[in-house]
Amino acid sequence: GESNGNLEKSTIKIPKVKYTKLFINGEFVDSISGRTFPTIDPRTEEVIAYVSEGDKEDVDLAVKAARHAFDHGPWPRFPGCERRRILLKFADLMEENLEELAALDTLDAANLYSVAKNMLIHDAAELIRFYAGAADKIHGETLKMSKEVQAYTLIEPIGVVGHIIPWNFPTQMFVMKVGAALAAGCTMVIKAAEQTPLSALYYAHLAKQAGVPDGVINVVPGFGHTAGAAISSHMDIDMVSFTGSTVTGHRIMQAAATSNLKQVCLELGGKSPFIVFDDVDVDKIAPLALSASLYNQGQICVAGSRIFVQEGIYDKFVGRLLEELKTWVVGDPFDPNVNQGPQVDKEQYEKVLSYIEHGKREGATLLTGGKPLDRKGYYIEPTIFTDVTDDMIIAKEEIFGPVMSIMKFKSVEEVIKKANSTKYGLAAGVMTNNLNIANTVSRSIRAGTIWINCYFAFDYDFPIGGYKRSGFGKDMGMDALRKYLQVKAIATPIFNSPW
Ligand code: ADP
Repeated sequence: GESNGNLEKSTIKIPKVKYTKLFINGEFVDSISGRTFPTIDPRTEEVIAYVSEGDKEDVDLAVKAARHAFDHGPWPRFPGCERRRILLKFADLMEENLEELAALDTLDAANLYSVAKNMLIHDAAELIRFYAGAADKIHGETLKMSKEVQAYTLIEPIGVVGHIIPWNFPTQMFVMKVGAALAAGCTMVIKAAEQTPLSALYYAHLAKQAGVPDGVINVVPGFGHTAGAAISSHMDIDMVSFTGSTVTGHRIMQAAATSNLKQVCLELGGKSPFIVFDDVDVDKIAPLALSASLYNQGQICVAGSRIFVQEGIYDKFVGRLLEELKTWVVGDPFDPNVNQGPQVDKEQYEKVLSYIEHGKREGATLLTGGKPLDRKGYYIEPTIFTDVTDDMIIAKEEIFGPVMSIMKFKSVEEVIKKANSTKYGLAAGVMTNNLNIANTVSRSIRAGTIWINCYFAFDYDFPIGGYKRSGFGKDMGMDALRKYLQVKAIATPIFNSPW
């Protein structure tokens, strides 16, 4: 279905945008060039606000502030409990401003407002609290030496971090990177995605209000080839933590290698399998498959975009999917009845439509959808292809749109092989009540996240990150905290004699 939304009657207040400038050393400032760029409302294709456009010189200023805050400021030197106190305040401020933050992400990124308001912002605050609780529990070990030497490891923050983040979940991306790095004691420069710069600037303001010292968090909105490239090739940044496409991941790693060998962690693309075995309850699993591939308009790196269905259940499953799709509503993401909003921008919208054309041309069966909606905004019908084969472009490349590809399989061995026949390795779903199959498949798939009889089960203690060309390094959980830390080993003779 389609909904035009009857928002006049609703109580949702669309916020006035408050923060549009760069945030450097605790202040909102214009970019050095004075240039701005528009951020577009994907529902209407109209400008929401003009935002200061950061470039290399602005990144330099931001890094200088972050460097100074790291080398001389209090943040890395605070006892952990002080960072914990400030992070807890930050989380509270997020919740105090929850509705406005949710609305900003809906405006800018078309995240469903009801989901943002009821879940996303609260979960983001909880993630900050998780890291707040870890901030005073970072410690090293006493080492067993073979000589009469006492030794221990000291765990230190890695330094100045450059975070380069994408547009699909602006709040989640900001908070998972910044929360872990703050708890570790790092200082940082964040480049928000050019499509969705608004909430990052708001969070910078809240962090300051919570007591994060000036220079610790700097936000530079801008484009990838300018501001982003300036971060990845900067000589004074110690690590770049990136989430985005695999193509850009290659560029960032290259820039890190040819500049100062900064550490790199990359959370990249995916083409995750969602595997349905014969024994499942179709009424439960078909709706789950639908949301695994269509949630957030299909714009989620761990989307289950290759649906493998075992032959005995195949027809029933596809029928049930189509049935379920009848209740699926595309429309204004502020409307609480809507399941799917517009794609984030014109470029993504056109890219998704061109993948759909590829699918048709390569001979997949277009079961339903396949067209843009006849209205303003970047809306695309939920689209299902069947008879998809492994060699088709739609089975191999990340589409990042509301497109499901369904493939039939016979045996466990066959589906493991197919699931692994991708350059990516981000996530996988295994739907079965057979424990042996669940165990065998989850251990055989080369991917960083496996969901058995569930999908998108994110949690603050659950690390997300890739195998293969989906990248390396984790976000969320203690693994993400550890990547912002480094180990210093210190030794001294026990009996004060030179050794
Ligand atoms: P998408 O295609 O989903 O926009 P990208 O990988 O291009 O994914 O974008 C993710 C983030 O990476 C954005 O913040 C973008 O501006 C940034 N980016 C794009 N190109 C580069 C680059 N060459 N160097 C550094 N950052 C980049």
